[in-house]
Amino acid sequence: MNADIDTVAVPGTVAGNHLAVKNRNESEPADSSLLQDVFRMIDHASGYLDLAPGLSEQIKQANAVYQVRFPVRFGNEYRIFTGWRAVHSEHRLPVKGGIRFAPIVTQEEVEALAALMTFKCALVNVPFGGSKGGLMLDPRDYEEEDLERITRRFAKELIAKGFISPSLNVPAPDLGTSQREMAWIADVYRNQFPGDINALACVTGKPVSQGGIAGRREATGRGVQFGLREFFRHADDVSHAGLSGGLAGKRVILQGLGNVGYHAAIALTLEDDVSVIVIVERDGALISEQGLDIQAVYDYLRETGGVRGFPGAQFVEDGRHVLEMECDILIPAALEKQITSENAARIRATLIAEAANGPITADADQILQESGKTIIPDIYLNAGGVVVSYFEWIKNITHMRFGRLDRRIDEARGEAVLDTLQQMLGRAVPDSLQQNIQRGPDEIDLVRSGLDDTMRQAYREMQSVRHANGRTPDLRTAAYVVAMEKVATTYREMGA
Ligand code: GLU
Repeated sequence: MNADIDTVAVPGTVAGNHLAVKNRNESEPADSSLLQDVFRMIDHASGYLDLAPGLSEQIKQANAVYQVRFPVRFGNEYRIFTGWRAVHSEHRLPVKGGIRFAPIVTQEEVEALAALMTFKCALVNVPFGGSKGGLMLDPRDYEEEDLERITRRFAKELIAKGFISPSLNVPAPDLGTSQREMAWIADVYRNQFPGDINALACVTGKPVSQGGIAGRREATGRGVQFGLREFFRHADDVSHAGLSGGLAGKRVILQGLGNVGYHAAIALTLEDDVSVIVIVERDGALISEQGLDIQAVYDYLRETGGVRGFPGAQFVEDGRHVLEMECDILIPAALEKQITSENAARIRATLIAEAANGPITADADQILQESGKTIIPDIYLNAGGVVVSYFEWIKNITHMRFGRLDRRIDEARGEAVLDTLQQMLGRAVPDSLQQNIQRGPDEIDLVRSGLDDTMRQAYREMQSVRHANGRTPDLRTAAYVVAMEKVATTYREMGA
């Protein structure tokens, strides 16, 4: 399902939900649960690390899970809602991770996703522990005002128990939630703690006008773009994936056109010349060998609630089989467990870029690895959201927007460079270049630059583990090794 991760608020509709593709749990064969898969991965990565007895167990299990059940009145009846917030690791505080609203949320899923947050943050050097929340409901079943009441009540419950706090636990959007829910949550917190000067930092992914940061909404999708760009800078990895050249001209199958899928696809098609030949959505798939117009499909999807009937492309109802079509890059940006032991052997893409959380089960992962596929793992590739959440949190606790102090200095410096250049050349530099040299960075420029740098750095850290280790682990194992080593180091230094 929409991995993000955070989803787009659709003005005038009930929620920022975008349950891109149905969860197939019921019809799926024996593959283990996401939590079991994460545990398996931790055990596997432990084999590459020198952890003291017991430490990998501490790194594995959630530290705390709070389950809450609360009533909300609808006319003369009460409806009962169940939600969770899991805290996976508090080796760094606050802990961080989204809150999802979905009918299929379970405690186990929330725990698994909290663990992924721990490793995601560690891998991309975001100094937070991991957490995740979930509320069992389908936001599409509720009017906006009802959803607001439910969200506020859920927030109140979590705040009361310390599961939302600027210094302890900071949620963000995820599947079925968006900026709108984050603004409600921030408001509840502020009302409860009017004297807390850092109240706004209790949640990230807020609207920019409510203490949010430019570029947070696109962040996970942008991170996918920056991660793929970095992958294509490593010729060895590219040829190992059976590909050559750069991103330009690569043919992509995208599953899920929610917030992550949309922003990734827009950036990749418009800026990297990638061609999205298939989009798989909840009601089926669109196919066009010439490449789909992402914005047009997205607008159509928002308008009609599906992709069926989109003009100029072939529609196929059985979206799942379309994942098996030939392409260069398969980007699952929807639900977890989309590639299982049932369909893994039929996947033809040689590079799979996990924009969703846990789209490939551990069994499927093994099948794919054995058949020589390359997987860019979720904890790396979809970390852009939490990276920019970190920037937002910093902005909130410093109470100042990025660039406020130095933007004019940068501009003055640019002007001086331009003057010198023009004097030396004896002629004026073309207008378009002048703009580039003179302009000081805006918040969005700084956010994108910080995200880009973070994604490059994290990839290189994964690479260094792969090359330093005679056993050359795959990228997912390398990502876990890097992340777990950092978590373990913190525990060792703390003396826990
Ligand atoms: N929900 C996003 C994720 O799963 C972002 C979490 C955050 O920003 O805290 O990565």
